[in-house]
Amino acid sequence: MISGKIHSWESMGLVDGPGIRTVVFLQGCRLRCLYCHNPDTWAKEGGTLETVDEVMARLRRFRPYYGTEGGVTFSGGEPLLQREFLTEILSRCRQEGIHTCLDTAGCGAGGYEEILKNTDLVLFDIKHYTEEGYRRITGRSPEESLHFLSLVQEMGIPLWLRHVVVPGLTDNEEHLEGLWSYIQTLRGVQRVELLPYHTLGVHKYARMQIPYPLKDVPPQDAEALTRWQERMNPHKPCKENKEENQ
Ligand code: SF4
Repeated sequence: MISGKIHSWESMGLVDGPGIRTVVFLQGCRLRCLYCHNPDTWAKEGGTLETVDEVMARLRRFRPYYGTEGGVTFSGGEPLLQREFLTEILSRCRQEGIHTCLDTAGCGAGGYEEILKNTDLVLFDIKHYTEEGYRRITGRSPEESLHFLSLVQEMGIPLWLRHVVVPGLTDNEEHLEGLWSYIQTLRGVQRVELLPYHTLGVHKYARMQIPYPLKDVPPQDAEALTRWQERMNPHKPCKENKEENQ
């Protein structure tokens, strides 16, 4: 039986996809985003081993809360790294009619067609829209994530895009204008979420004894993003846009 390495669970998530969702955070990530607030998910060792059957049993228990919109979101870390587990669990969710989201930066271990064929929605984290900016933020080449993103579009899977806005790094008008131009070239985008940078994960760096790369950067003011948030989501009411980013 295939098992996954699970970092943690959130049983009633409201922000990672539509409706009420169970969020399963998978262990392991190869990126090193400057602003990552979950460095404890990076190592591929660690996490708790749970079989596909065990995870499905938990999802069935939460199912009454999902209603017509909710379901399960696989997040991380980077869920795509656990290729076999993800392929199997997504297929089982599809068989049982549970709506699935992948919360991903697209830097996994291949096998994306198999994974995506049973995925209902992709929450894709755009780290940056230029190669240089992507490398600066993540420490890696954008090639893998661009490959993943093209497959999502080719397969016609709906996309929700996310982008973390960091003061002094990705908050200036020129950058946001460039981001918006890039987003307009993508197919299947249903919404865009600008996520204000926060410092809630900083204590984890101290505990893990690793230097925090953005130690002098203040949190991003969410209000300052309202105009862009509205511009990037022309069909959604402003109130909703604002509340979701708090
Ligand atoms: S992709 Fe996510 S988990 Fe991985 S380093 Fe970046 S922010 Fe952290």
